[in-house]
Amino acid sequence: MLAGHFAVGYALKAVEKTVPLWVLLVAVQFVDIFAQIFIFLGLERMFIPENATKITDIVIFNPYTHSLISVPFWSLLFVAIFALFRPVNLRIAAVLIIAVASHWILDFVVHVPDLPLSFSPEEKFGLGLWNYPLLSAALETVLLLAGIALCLKVVEFGGLINKLLFWLLCTLLLLLALFGSHTQPPSTIGEAVVKGLMLYTIVPAFAYFSEKRIRKNSV
Ligand SMILES: [Zn+2]
Repeated sequence: MLAGHFAVGYALKAVEKTVPLWVLLVAVQFVDIFAQIFIFLGLERMFIPENATKITDIVIFNPYTHSLISVPFWSLLFVAIFALFRPVNLRIAAVLIIAVASHWILDFVVHVPDLPLSFSPEEKFGLGLWNYPLLSAALETVLLLAGIALCLKVVEFGGLINKLLFWLLCTLLLLLALFGSHTQPPSTIGEAVVKGLMLYTIVPAFAYFSEKRIRKNSV
């Protein structure tokens, strides 16, 4: 799943509005950010078949970032990093853990069986909703719309420019939800890593500048 992950970040903003939206949008893709880095370093694997026509044809094996057994580690690591900068209570910790852990659950729904339970290469799981392109695009879009709607109940914008940035980001993510999984796959692993890291940088950056005023007031 690509854009659909961000839906959880938007929705959790409504649960705990003192956590900046950009932090939640990083949390939901935290393991994917590390996956890009690990693939670049050769610690995890990505294989782009020659006959690949869409992004979902890419074969991945990410035991350290995408195994079920690693989910508690990544969730607690994110809470620990957040705690370096802001006070963390039980509610905030729970929200951050849900944000990070939601990544595995949503990937499990859409991925073809490539998600390991442990570091072992034999056990891989995934319900394969990506095999039904319309259904998976519909699910990601509905999730995003619901998440954005919840977020709008609490989010405060710094001004017109901030509001425009928020809606521009929402529009880009909705387009990604509708068409993202069927775009042309990258031709090299390097290109895939760079595009992934760009997405995971641009999205929180937009959110950061959308919510400038609330960030100042609430922290
Ligand atoms: Zn993932």
